[in-house]
Amino acid sequence: MAQPKADIAVIGLAVMGQNLILNMDSKGFVVCAFNRTVAKVEEFLANEAKGTKIIGASSVEDMVAKLKRPRKIMLLVKAGSAVDKFVETLLPLLEKGDIIIDGGNSQYNDTERWCKQLESSGIHYIGTGVSGGEEGARYGPSLMPGGHKAAWPHIKPIFQAICAKVGTEPCCDWVGENGAGHFVKMVHNGIEYGDMQLICEAYHLMKDVLGMEQGEMAEVFEQWNKGELDSFLIEISRDILKYKDADGKYLLPKIRDTAGQKGTGKWTGCAALNYGVPVTLIGEAVFARYLSSLKDERVKASKVLPGPSVKFTGDKKQFLEHLRRALFASKVISYAQGFMLLRQAAKIYNWNLNYGSIALMWRGGCIIRSAFLGNIKDAFTNNPELSNLLLDPYFCERISASQDSLRQVLAQSALSGVPTPAHSAALAFYDGYRSAVLPANLLQAQRDYFGAHTYELINNPGTFVHTNWTGHG
Ligand code: NAP
Repeated sequence: MAQPKADIAVIGLAVMGQNLILNMDSKGFVVCAFNRTVAKVEEFLANEAKGTKIIGASSVEDMVAKLKRPRKIMLLVKAGSAVDKFVETLLPLLEKGDIIIDGGNSQYNDTERWCKQLESSGIHYIGTGVSGGEEGARYGPSLMPGGHKAAWPHIKPIFQAICAKVGTEPCCDWVGENGAGHFVKMVHNGIEYGDMQLICEAYHLMKDVLGMEQGEMAEVFEQWNKGELDSFLIEISRDILKYKDADGKYLLPKIRDTAGQKGTGKWTGCAALNYGVPVTLIGEAVFARYLSSLKDERVKASKVLPGPSVKFTGDKKQFLEHLRRALFASKVISYAQGFMLLRQAAKIYNWNLNYGSIALMWRGGCIIRSAFLGNIKDAFTNNPELSNLLLDPYFCERISASQDSLRQVLAQSALSGVPTPAHSAALAFYDGYRSAVLPANLLQAQRDYFGAHTYELINNPGTFVHTNWTGHG
């Protein structure tokens, strides 16, 4: 029998699998390709993989036989039952030290479950976030691996060779135990929802408050991309705004205003609710997509529900600067919330997360890549115990300089009747977070009044008492 020669196998020959295989091949690794529909292996070898060192397998057994030890098998298939099915098929064919890597958008609790289940078997399980879409997979994704740490030294050379780099620093490092990698990827996707919604709101305000033409908006985004908002999403929004159809007209206004979703934003929101972390901006971004999908109802409501008739009379240039600062401030607040969720999950699951290194993983290769993640990395490098990003001296100073602009923008959006749920959530959180006193004293009293839930007195912390509220007065 021929000597096994493949460094790694990849199962799943859709967009992500094919591109990651080609990426690995270009970095000198021998990859064995496999797919549930086996005919796709031959097709891939004859077309996209032609002239490469990539080899194919005709069955799972054939694939396992072609792998050098410890065997490394990466799944890039639909998350959920397809992953479970492949893992179950692979297990009897593998031995101690072999590694299964799930690179799909799996739920972190599925990865937790597999890690726990395989703990005693000696077969290592890795759940890794892969971000950057097709282009990222081919030329350098952001990779967020977590799971059984013993596997990391074996996959590190491959992962750090194929991932995106910022300068010479790889956008991939060990995230943490069990489901940590997929959790971090989920929060990344949630943040992506927030960033996208914030940009959409800025576009909405330019369009309906300032009455700007698209080419002019594109120029504003171009300018913004040269400063602290420098990011992939601002860059592609500029390109989208500029894009004209074959008829010479802008394409964007022809696109239906309803947005779909695959669920990772919702998962982030659910995790935030489950773990008691106020990740309000991402929550609003998910709800904004739901609201957008109620197109028929909105059209009906637009005919009967009145809004304001206020026209913008201010200074356009000044408002645009307020808008830029408002977007930046809201983005900082959204990331602060995202990192709060990571911190809480790490506590619950006992993950030893390195927040600076997570920021660096997101700094390149992925959809939320931006210059500003470099500042987040610095914040956590300067103080790994930083409890909240807003308390870092750099971000505290940046928020101080931009919070007034956020208020100006929200005041105008309310007066004009243009919805800005994500920006509004940012300011509400900011004002709540910086409040030494909130009205929850009344809340405690209300709960005690109707349900005898008791309340805690300021001058007697830890002691809970009940009052018969209807007894005196
Ligand atoms: P996909 O469309 O999510 O999945 C297609 C692959 O899954 C095919 O190889 C298909 O095999 C296999 N598959 C589907 N159902 C199966 C089942 N019941 N049993 C066994 N295999 C099954 O592919 P993708 O877009 O390349 O994404 C792969 C993973 O990466 C997903 O988890 C996705 O969420 C994640 N991801 C995607 C992107 C992206 O931009 N597309 C970005 C980041 C992460 P057949 O050919 O036999 O149908």
